[in-house]
Amino acid sequence: MKNIILFGKPGAGKGTQAVFLRDHFNLIHISTGDVFRYNIKNQTPLGIMAKQYMDNGDLVPDEVTIQMLESEVDKRPDAAGFIFDGFPRTISQAEALDGFLSKKDMAIAATLALDVDEDILVSRLLSRGKDSGRADDQDEEKIRNRFAEYNEKTAPLIAYYKAQEKFHAIDGSRPIEAIADHLTRIVDQL
Ligand code: AMP
Repeated sequence: MKNIILFGKPGAGKGTQAVFLRDHFNLIHISTGDVFRYNIKNQTPLGIMAKQYMDNGDLVPDEVTIQMLESEVDKRPDAAGFIFDGFPRTISQAEALDGFLSKKDMAIAATLALDVDEDILVSRLLSRGKDSGRADDQDEEKIRNRFAEYNEKTAPLIAYYKAQEKFHAIDGSRPIEAIADHLTRIVDQL
């Protein structure tokens, strides 16, 4: 079973690469951002609660995010493996994920980190925001706040996964196909 974390700042290309890896390796793709957006669209209590955080570019509290992720995994007991996209984003989420997976005799095989400069990401996100209408992609101040959240709360996960010898950094500024090839080579060897 190959359980992979796609890691990187907002706009680094996690979603794009997740779809490619999902199809290539027949994995289930879980994007916590997508699950939140689905709940917002359907005006569920979870969506209404998450929206106030997401609109400002803040992280949604750990407790609800962890519960949501676990229930998404539980929906797919026959999966050949999972791609976690946008989760974990805090040390508590990473510890919860390790504990949850180990109860099921599962584990993370690798964390694949897409590395891209913040200035490149800002212009990528602003142009994505124009196409998608995503509020959190349309305002540079909110984008910078998401980077601040990442730098403060998510970046410590690099050391967490390095200590487990599961961390692979990849230059995410290259063409999409070159990155996909590189990721495939890593996942093939897991
Ligand atoms: P994304 O689509 O991954 O960029 O996520 C969009 C927004 O959803 C983030 O800015 C957060 O507000 C929220 N979100 C997504 N994943 C998480 C997570 N693992 N923990 C907390 N908030 C999250």
